[in-house]
Amino acid sequence: MTDAASSPPAASASPAAAPTFQHFIAGEWCASASGATFESRNPADTRDVVGRFQLGTAADVAMAIKAAETAGPMWRRTPAPKRGEILYAFAQLMGEHKERLARAMTREMGKVLSEARGDVQEGIDIAYLMAGEGRRMFGDTVPSELPDKWAMSIRQPIGVAGIITPWNFPMAIPCWKMMPALVTGNTVVFKPASDTPHCATLLVELMVEAGFPPGVVNLVTGTGAEVGDAIVGSPDVGVISFTGSSATGRSIAATAGAKLKRLSLELGGKNGVVVLADADLDLATDGILWSAFGTTGQRCTAASRVIVDRSVQDALLARLEARTRTLTLGSGLDASVDVGPLINAGAVDKVASYVDIGDREATLVVGGARAIGGELDHGHFFQPTIFAGVGAMDRIGQEEIFGPVLSVIPVDGYGEAMLALNQTRYGLSSSIFTQDVNTAFRAMRDFETGIVYVNAGTTGAETHLPFGGWKETGNGHREAGHVALDTYTEWKSIYVDFSGRLQRAQIDNQ
Ligand code: NDP
Repeated sequence: MTDAASSPPAASASPAAAPTFQHFIAGEWCASASGATFESRNPADTRDVVGRFQLGTAADVAMAIKAAETAGPMWRRTPAPKRGEILYAFAQLMGEHKERLARAMTREMGKVLSEARGDVQEGIDIAYLMAGEGRRMFGDTVPSELPDKWAMSIRQPIGVAGIITPWNFPMAIPCWKMMPALVTGNTVVFKPASDTPHCATLLVELMVEAGFPPGVVNLVTGTGAEVGDAIVGSPDVGVISFTGSSATGRSIAATAGAKLKRLSLELGGKNGVVVLADADLDLATDGILWSAFGTTGQRCTAASRVIVDRSVQDALLARLEARTRTLTLGSGLDASVDVGPLINAGAVDKVASYVDIGDREATLVVGGARAIGGELDHGHFFQPTIFAGVGAMDRIGQEEIFGPVLSVIPVDGYGEAMLALNQTRYGLSSSIFTQDVNTAFRAMRDFETGIVYVNAGTTGAETHLPFGGWKETGNGHREAGHVALDTYTEWKSIYVDFSGRLQRAQIDNQ
């Protein structure tokens, strides 16, 4: 560990001048035991190096877990309202620094600035919500079945929480996990995605400023295979919260399951929008484009399937195609840009490979190629793409592409639409456009997803409701809302018998 007091100042454009950032362990910014670092680059212009970050090791993780364990007793005995006050201060700081954070996010992961501001705002919202939990965190106080006996239940922290996050919401998702973990009295070891370590560092800097005591929050950057694996495998980490791909989620679940460890998983999605014959097609077009191409299709709630009644298919496709052709690609820091880059070269290759599959399965309407020319040549850009005539079970209609590719699936009537919508192994978000209130209520009942929208796209969750998916999108846990506390707490039921005699439940009250 070095004696550096804080992480380095603002990042630089030149690789030579790019600053080096550090882990944060036991209240100190420090270098990795490996002595090695890795780069984070701007996906809209890969000549722009955001910074160099510590290539963490299992030894770094062990130090971070030790620090979190050491801070645990002090933090769990800190009254929950006091813990909440620190979350409140963090929310305020995020608000004060919102523009700086949003610009740093756009630079590091590419989403357009208005969406980056939304990402920061989600972090602020969850911090305020969870600050309030410091004064709620309700348990039950219930009548006992026996006289002169008191019965109640309380929540208690699990211990050390391992927080492993993806790059697509690089501030919102860490806050969605860390805020409920911390307010309930857990301490944290945080491993961000290797594509967005700067966003994570900026968050932790503000957490330090807000007053989280040393050891309560620890940041270790580095690969999933080394740092992530060491967190998941440690017997001293009691709960893991992970958002990322289904493949990684499965492997984490196998390790955590063998250790009977608490695990919250938010995984892949293949979200559908149903457009019925009576839909407002202009409104549906707005909702679909926002959901399909916002964040360049890299949201877990992104719409990648449109299930449309055959009678309005041509009218909807004409609107979607015309509007898609007007979208401007480029750096998200440019206010005239609608769609930013994909996260990295691997993502461009993956999207291109699915477009090849789509060319064999369906009819290309618009897009379908890497976006090149001028400044785009320096980034990871792909044209917003629409396929028509897709079958509900076709690969492009089934597999998560995580890019700007939309499949339009024709059906006849609500019954077929509902079946097609549910024919996926994922179940995060869905939506329906209809003017018929009865059909809307059928959809709210029938759609097998954790989130259902009526007359809106599939994105835009609010932090005070549960967030998460059915089926292979997760393992039943939810983020956000008061139910987020369930991931990070153990229940304790407490009975106080003040009768002064032995009273046996289920026996002496018969
Ligand atoms: P990954 O699963 O590749 O990575 C997610 C995180 O896990 C990263 O921090 C990664 O580290 C880490 N990791 C990788 N391997 C391991 C391992 N063996 N053990 C522990 N940690 C590991 O996902 P992406 O970053 O590519 O994110 C995109 C995916 O996330 C999409 O599939 C998307 O659907 C899903 N997602 C789901 C959401 C939801 O709420 N359901 C929300 C947002 C995204 P490193 O970066 O170093 O590889």
